[in-house]
Amino acid sequence: MKILASHLAGAWTPGDGPAAVLVNPATEEPLAHAHGRGLDLAGALAYARDRGGPALRALGFAERGALCAGLARAIHAAREELIALAVASGGNTRGDAKFDLDGAAATLAHYGELAGKLGGGRLLADGEPVQVGRTARLAGQHAWAPRPGVAVLINAFNFPAWGLAEKLACALVAGMPVLCKPATATALVTHRLVELWVEAGLLPAGALQLLVGPAGDLVDHLRGPDVLAFTGSSDTARSLRAHPRVVAEGVRVNVEADSLNAAVLAPDVELGSESGQLFLADVARDMTQKTGQKCTAIRRVLVPAARLDEVVAALGERLAAITVGDPARDDVRMGPLATAAQARDVRAGIDRLAAATRPGWGDTGAVTPLGVPAGTGFFVGPVLRVTDEPRACAAMHAHEVFGPVATVGAYDGDPHAAAALVALGQGGLVASCYSDDRDWLGRFVVDAAGWNGRIYLGSEKIAAMSPGPGTALPQLQHGGPGRAGDGAELGGARGLALYMQRVALQGDASHLKALVGG
Ligand code: NAP
Repeated sequence: MKILASHLAGAWTPGDGPAAVLVNPATEEPLAHAHGRGLDLAGALAYARDRGGPALRALGFAERGALCAGLARAIHAAREELIALAVASGGNTRGDAKFDLDGAAATLAHYGELAGKLGGGRLLADGEPVQVGRTARLAGQHAWAPRPGVAVLINAFNFPAWGLAEKLACALVAGMPVLCKPATATALVTHRLVELWVEAGLLPAGALQLLVGPAGDLVDHLRGPDVLAFTGSSDTARSLRAHPRVVAEGVRVNVEADSLNAAVLAPDVELGSESGQLFLADVARDMTQKTGQKCTAIRRVLVPAARLDEVVAALGERLAAITVGDPARDDVRMGPLATAAQARDVRAGIDRLAAATRPGWGDTGAVTPLGVPAGTGFFVGPVLRVTDEPRACAAMHAHEVFGPVATVGAYDGDPHAAAALVALGQGGLVASCYSDDRDWLGRFVVDAAGWNGRIYLGSEKIAAMSPGPGTALPQLQHGGPGRAGDGAELGGARGLALYMQRVALQGDASHLKALVGG
């Protein structure tokens, strides 16, 4: 049995204590063990601060960007091997695996390029210099500097490559060393990525460390200048935010958590139009891609009451074409959920929805998967639930069912009413709306904007080129208010701010210009 070692303080170390067993979620075949005990995590954090931090801070932005570009190239070079690993260990179809790995490589490459444009400096100007004295000689200039700590990146099970890359790219370009902790259940892909990068010697010593297995006492050793960037459930986020060490030291925390993302169909859109087809394709893709285990997936679908039956029938037709089974097979379009616990949670979530809604497609998710013996694997089929009264349907807005499940609700076509229903999700990563009516869009977007990190405007002009709302692009902010964790990642250069300290420099204008540039 393969034992997944952690990479700490420059060495691979397997740890000890009870083993977590990583399994293939389609066949339940054991794949690897991880042991989280007996690891010197205080020493690993010190190694990052003492070795990785100074090495990265000695480089300029462009040089740090070149490191990211190298990591991206290494993913491309091992793409087929990594895809096979993601299929076996994460319940991913080949398409799901490519989505994660290509997303990771594209994000790292994007930040490589962006950092190249920031140039060779080591401080980043924030705005223009301002006169603060009697003459222009005495000036002020805001600037960003790397935080002199370690970025601890804790990720969820669903994107073992992309989830890491989003955070890692920003931290490295900003000049902070990283200790990453993937979710144990799907850590095989992250482990192999780090192994490839370490073997190729792509980063300075201490710039990237890997902890496989439970977090242990990791958080107990954080300090004020460190950053804790977390992606996962609201429950874990709450406990990390309230962790006595985090509170006492004032550790900066960023949270990317649950989100009941909504898709709204406006009354001007006929289902047969380009905008209507885009809406149907986006909803069906988001429900089934990665078996619905995407933080950005559409969970709530709001449609004008007059179109409710038509939409449910059209989505049912698309879902009927989704073959479920062993994702290693070419004829399978959707694999299992990633873990037994996920399958239990999703079934409980479907039961909660079933008590408050009527079936639209897939009833309660029972399915006979292709290519695995009956009763094996963590399979749940696509489930569409329906309600005529979304305002009264608390189950639809309050519980994220992290699987191939969505609820369609009717509304009266009014943009303000649609935005009020979106707001019942209490803060989301992304809301999407489908309309070619600018007046309707204008009224919806202003009301919905404060509740969402991103708003995706689906329309006929972009239908042919749109990746859909479920793709987190490095150019655009990822993160949302309220339930979504109130975090912010990515967004081009904005994504660096989490890992940098803003400092106001005050002095001779020519000194400031030399230090920070334009
Ligand atoms: P989770 O159970 O909260 O776990 C997330 C990560 O936290 C894992 O690496 C986990 O490690 C670790 N963890 C758990 N307890 C911890 C503790 N006390 N101290 C430090 N680390 C701890 O969430 P999940 O089940 O993996 O992920 C599903 C959730 O993530 C969903 O709710 C989804 O919405 C959310 N998500 C959000 C985004 C976003 O960008 N907003 C993206 C993806 C997923 P172990 O695996 O070792 O327990």
